Amino acid sequence: MNQHFDPCLPDGDLPDDLTAFAQRIRAFAAEKLAPFAREIDERRIFRREMVADLAAAGILGGPLLPAHGGAGWSALQLALAHEEIGAVCGNARGFLAVQTGLVAQCLERFGSEAQQAHWLPRLSSGTAIGSFGLTEEDAGSDVVALGCRATRDGDGYRINGHKIWNTNGGIADVTLVFATVDPAAKRDGITAFLVETDRPGFVRKDMDGVDLGHRGSSHARLEFEDVAVGPDAVVGGIGRGFEVAMGGLHAGRLSVAAGAVGIQRAALACAREHCRTREQFGRSLDRFQMVQERLADMTVELLASRALVHRCAARRDAGIEHAGDLAAAKLYATEAASRAADQAIMLLGGRGYSSAAPAERLLRDSLGLRIYEGTSMIQKGLLARALNDG
Ligand SMILES: Cc1cc2nc3c(=O)[nH]c(=O)nc-3n(C[C@H](O)[C@H](O)[C@H](O)COP(=O)(O)OP(=O)(O)OC[C@H]3O[C@@H](n4cnc5c(N)ncnc54)[C@H](O)[C@@H]3O)c2cc1C
Repeated sequence: MNQHFDPCLPDGDLPDDLTAFAQRIRAFAAEKLAPFAREIDERRIFRREMVADLAAAGILGGPLLPAHGGAGWSALQLALAHEEIGAVCGNARGFLAVQTGLVAQCLERFGSEAQQAHWLPRLSSGTAIGSFGLTEEDAGSDVVALGCRATRDGDGYRINGHKIWNTNGGIADVTLVFATVDPAAKRDGITAFLVETDRPGFVRKDMDGVDLGHRGSSHARLEFEDVAVGPDAVVGGIGRGFEVAMGGLHAGRLSVAAGAVGIQRAALACAREHCRTREQFGRSLDRFQMVQERLADMTVELLASRALVHRCAARRDAGIEHAGDLAAAKLYATEAASRAADQAIMLLGGRGYSSAAPAERLLRDSLGLRIYEGTSMIQKGLLARALNDG
């Protein structure tokens, strides 16, 4: 029998080297991220020092191949890192997912040698910040509807259009932007371009309104007004942008799901501790059966989410991953994250309703995870397709 039951930590299920890995990321998150997690959310500021800290700890470059100066993390290591960071600071995790997952790893997979040589050292050292520009006003889940246009100009292109919800967009040095070279060709016209943000005609603006969660992140509207780029800006080839975008999002879903495991564990940890120490009607809350039931449900969903994530990671490491596996993990873990944070708020009572406790931030952040990199409905569609097509 287990001598100690702690569902919040993955350590008991891991071999020693991975336990040590998770503990190292946990110690980093506790020292460098936790002290600022509430403040950056409340003040809605992106903390630039965080980038240097993530780089110095080897986290920005961790997933990249050793040939590109990275540590060559396995998918399981990537998932553990996102769980640990996601448990503490959704803004740091979101930054990392875009910087390393959607930009650097996309370049590693689809970029030219010159693009890799120039950008990967900068992205992994944090001396350059990257963003990923797919979503537009009229093109969200329906990516193929994008209207950003790249027209031929000599041997290069001129880009016109806009992007919204661009994470890191307000501070990015470079953006991986998706535009069509031929709207009639639909998905076969979509092309990925790597655009430096100091190019004439590039404009960034604040998004309208105040974000519900991820408030310590930089979300921007990007506008392209005749932005000229050379042929060397194309990533993956003309007409291959849809493949580049889907490759990035497909890979990124593992880190979103792992981040959702982090949210669940943070919600369970704070609810459990509160219920252990708070007394009402002469006994601690965790002696009441209805409270116990809620904690038990949170525990099962956390363990199930982590199992799904680790299953995906193991399959990716074995080279047998399927989009259906990732859709199941992202769907279940992110939806369970909202349920867990919601329960944590209830169990904390009035204290849960204040930013003095992390539960309400966890709930607000969890909703973002259910929307970006494919909404929950889109994940269900992917699962249906996987079931139909095998
Ligand atoms: C915090 C945050 C960060 C983000 N960061 C980035 C980023 O860095 N880069 C980027 O490009 N984008 C980013 N996004 C945008 C995000 O990817 C989109 O919001 C998302 O893909 C959904 O698109 P949409 O908002 O246009 O919603 P829509 O696609 O209009 O969807 C609206 C609703 O309709 C449903 N729906 C749509 N199509 C279907 C369908 N076929 N079947 C069933 N239901 C459907 C959706 O599930 C949703 O409930 C970010 C969003 C958020 C909230």
